[in-house]
Amino acid sequence: MSGVRDESVTEVAEELRRHLAWLADAGVRELAPASVAAAASGVSHDPGAVPAASPTQVPPPAPSWAEMPPARTAPRQAAGGPYALTDTGCGSAALLAVREDLGECSRCKLGSGRTHVVFGVGNPAAELLFVGEGPGEDEDLKGEPFVGRAGQLLTKMIEAMGFRRGDVYIANVVKCRPPGNRNPEPDEIEACEPFLRAQIAGIRPKVIVALGKFAAQTLLRDPSAISRLRGRWFEYGGVRLMPTFHPAYLLRSPGEKAKAWEDLQLVMKELGKSPQKGR
Ligand code: SF4
Repeated sequence: MSGVRDESVTEVAEELRRHLAWLADAGVRELAPASVAAAASGVSHDPGAVPAASPTQVPPPAPSWAEMPPARTAPRQAAGGPYALTDTGCGSAALLAVREDLGECSRCKLGSGRTHVVFGVGNPAAELLFVGEGPGEDEDLKGEPFVGRAGQLLTKMIEAMGFRRGDVYIANVVKCRPPGNRNPEPDEIEACEPFLRAQIAGIRPKVIVALGKFAAQTLLRDPSAISRLRGRWFEYGGVRLMPTFHPAYLLRSPGEKAKAWEDLQLVMKELGKSPQKGR
């Protein structure tokens, strides 16, 4: 009887030794008492499960015998495509959809010479939208509208109206830089303007300010001089539109700033903004 018990103890000890060797191979350096008891009692153990580490225990290294599945990178499309709400000029589902539709556009010949599509920038729910003609060199390089000297003046104009630049939205009639800063051509406008319209539909501003002769003439389909268009209310896509001088023109002709300020004051009145002293 004693011999049978000794034999049984020897078998259990051998089983325990094999189990501990397996755990050591799996990288386990410390055992909770329950695990020892389970091993010692011969309770069956899932060989594929690495024992859980105690809170104070450093997680064991991956077992050498296990084939870890390769890390899988979700395809970009599954994450919502190559564009994101955080991209410049997006920020709302509506604008993101327009950006995704635009993509790395080559719908007109301007697409071949650009560095970046200059989609737009600012508050996706802005009550005030500024529209210029098209990106210049600085904008093309940075991918953001109105970032050069004219852009700095535009920022001052926006601040004088009582807004921060980030409160408004800024876009252009065409989103790629025309070579040599020439005016966009009719086929280029025809290809690109639907995206501006879609942006306006997504932003739903109360007022659009058309910056300069080209933007005003294009949006209004009116060849009149900017000096005749400025300071008067029009409509574009159901939104009130005020033409004024382009900041680049104001840099060349600072004497015209007072007229531009008059135009912006009309916009402020329309938006219920108090006149600011500085400009
Ligand atoms: S200007 Fe507009 S339509 Fe032409 S390639 Fe650029 S994004 Fe496309």
